[in-house]
Amino acid sequence: MQIKSTAFLKSAVHPEHYPEGGMPEIAFAGRSNVGKSSMINCLLNRRALVRTSSTPGRTQLLNFFTINDAFNLVDLPGYGFAKVPLAVKRSWGPMIRTYLEKRRNLRGVVLILDIRRIPGEEDLQFLDWLEEYQIPTIAVITKADKVTRGQRREHVRKIAAACGLPEDAFTLFSATSREGRADVWERVAQALDS
Ligand code: GDP
Repeated sequence: MQIKSTAFLKSAVHPEHYPEGGMPEIAFAGRSNVGKSSMINCLLNRRALVRTSSTPGRTQLLNFFTINDAFNLVDLPGYGFAKVPLAVKRSWGPMIRTYLEKRRNLRGVVLILDIRRIPGEEDLQFLDWLEEYQIPTIAVITKADKVTRGQRREHVRKIAAACGLPEDAFTLFSATSREGRADVWERVAQALDS
């Protein structure tokens, strides 16, 4: 995908504040620190369009961007961030569920996992919601550069088993080496077209 333009649209919590226009939309989700911002910035060839989650404030909102004036990209707040106040943690689930349930133009969610980490309860819960609302899921394992080529298969096997998904459901990615970038775009473009 050739990126001609990217722009921040708005942040929102409630459906009445989501951007209008009905553009097809793709959302990115994952545990805090999984590498979500790095992946989005790499996909868009932008150094820092999306901020990293070391500052929790703005990262607790749904952040909407418009890409090529053709589709929206949504950066969903990362989960599992220990320093977030309890009240914010409690509101995270309803905010995400409402978004997944109500957003008619949502075409797919990129769920990001870390190659070195067995998926946790929150990752599995997110997968359950995607299934419940029948949202096409693009599962991506990032930080692939952190393990040797020889170890990769075993890491993918364990992650796939924990998720109850086949190994070929996952695309391997690295924001550092940029490997997997074309594959992720291909799956995103396919979801946007469907
Ligand atoms: P977020 O909280 O999910 O948005 O995660 P970030 O994108 O801020 O990344 C968290 C940390 O992981 C940062 O220190 C990144 O530099 C690092 N990181 C992200 N992606 C990769 C990757 O593909 N490979 C490596 N080696 N490090 C990465």
